[in-house]
Order: sequence, then structure tokens, then C-alpha cells
Amino acid sequence: MPGLPGRSPVYRGRFAPTPSGPLHFGSLVAALGSCLDARSRGGQWLVRMEDVDPPRVVAGAADAILASLEAFGFAWDGPVLWQGRRGAAYGETLDRLARAGLIYGCACSRKRIAETAVTGVDGPVYPGTCRGRPPGPGLASRFRVGVERVAFRDALLGRVACDLATECGDFVLQRVDGVYTYQLAVVVDDAFQDISHVVRGADLLASTPRQIALQRALGLATPEYLHLPVVLDRAGDKLSKQTRAAPLEDHRPLPALLGAARFLGMAPPGDLASVAEFWGWAVSAWRRETLPPLRGRGGWA
Ligand code: GLU
Repeated sequence: MPGLPGRSPVYRGRFAPTPSGPLHFGSLVAALGSCLDARSRGGQWLVRMEDVDPPRVVAGAADAILASLEAFGFAWDGPVLWQGRRGAAYGETLDRLARAGLIYGCACSRKRIAETAVTGVDGPVYPGTCRGRPPGPGLASRFRVGVERVAFRDALLGRVACDLATECGDFVLQRVDGVYTYQLAVVVDDAFQDISHVVRGADLLASTPRQIALQRALGLATPEYLHLPVVLDRAGDKLSKQTRAAPLEDHRPLPALLGAARFLGMAPPGDLASVAEFWGWAVSAWRRETLPPLRGRGGWA
């Protein structure tokens, strides 16, 4: 039974789409990889709607995403977790970090930071200008990173290490407009949902060390990570909702499922005639070993 204390299976995976647009082929690859990795190990697979950032949420996108997942034959365990309803949990976590002296108030504009900061693995490295400032209203809340290297073992890439202080810098957990950031919400919710394995696109690889640093600061367990190769468009950019990648066609799920499986290094037999047959084959055929190598390492070249 999902969610009962003491009954959690060893494996709990998740797919966490942002409802900023409909699912596209790149998101199908992430959904399929995370679901197959979970199901092939007898694990649970959860869906979390990452609607934490209201300005990015597009009306109707969350419902369209869930409808697509159903049309493509995905079945998730338990109810969908909506980040838009989790503000109290994020606020409490921020208070804990504030009491521990791990966050500070920041008044710097993006423009000012961009003018003065060096570029790190995922944008400008905040130079620490506001480090002495207590958190407070009208200020962003920034997490104070330590000086130690954060290292983890990615199931596909092997050891990944990051010197947060020089490569990322202190990062924002709550923006000036009060919106909690992805980095905070994902850490709180991966723990809340008892996620043991995070399988997601390698575009998020540069975020993982920040999430691990936050987990450590909060005394939370670190899940296992597997970062999947990212689907690129003709120009070599990641397919994304922002660049208006073509939405999935819910009435024709099989060709896209087969394409996503091939992208993940699988070799579907030619006679799979339905979505049900696809899933029956894919769960037993999934192998991490045949995943294609990552070209580049997300933010790390
Ligand atoms: N919401 C993120 C996305 O749509 C995924 C976050 C995650 O898997 O940690 O790209």
C-alpha cells in the first residue's frame, strides 16, 4: 500500500513536471526513464506537479500533462502532489534554516549580480555581497553554501563533484516576490514523498549538488541520482516548453513511446501493437547499462 508508514518499498521514484506547457518528447523521455527504472525494480512511481512558481504556470497545462501521461499509459502511485499547496512546508523549512543561521536576506537585483559575478556551472556565482544581512520582508532569502566539495555518484556518470562556493555560490530559496524556489521545494518534497531514486534529465545535473547541500543542512537523506541524456533540437538546444517544443499527440501515443524507448537505448520489437503491449515489454526490457552516454555534463562541459 503506498504511503503507509513502515511499508515503503526500497524504491520510490518520481516524475516532477513543471506545468509551464504541455508535455513534449523530451519530457516523455524523462517520464519514461524514471517510470521504467522504478517499475523494473518493483518500485513505486509518483507524480509531483511542480507548480511552485505562479508566473511560470500556464492555465490548463497541469491537467493537460496528467491527461497526456494517462493517454501514454503511465500509472502513478497515490495522489499527485501539488507544490502550489505546499507553501506551509516550504515556509517552515526556511524558518529552520534561518534559526540555524544558514540563510540571509539579499537585496541584489539580477542585473547587479550579472554585472559583477563570475559565471559558474549554472549562471552567475553570487559574490556574497549581502552575506551579513538578516533575512526579512522585501528581501530574497539566500542559502549560505559551505566551502567543502559536494560529491555524489550518479548511476550513469559515476562520481560528480562540485565546489559550491566557487562554482555555484549562495543560492536563492525564496525570491523577493515571496515565491519559493525549485531548489527548496524539490528538496522538501523529495523528502516528504520519501523518494529513494531521482531519475531526471541531465539538464538538472548542476542543481543536484545544491540539493544535496540543502539535504545535509536539513538532516535529510540523499536519494540516489540518475541523470538521463537530454533530447536536443536541431539547433543543439534542449527541447523545452519555453522554446515551444511540439506537444505530444495524445491520440497517437505508441510512436512517441517507441521513439522515447529508442532514445533511451532500448530496442523495441517491431510487433508491439498497443500501449499496453509496449509497457508489458518495456518494464522487463529496461536496462540502465544500455542507456546512451551523456554528451556533455549538463552545466559541466
Ligand atoms: N520540474 C522540473 C522540470 O520540469 C523537474 C525537476 C526534477 O525532476 O527535479 O524540468
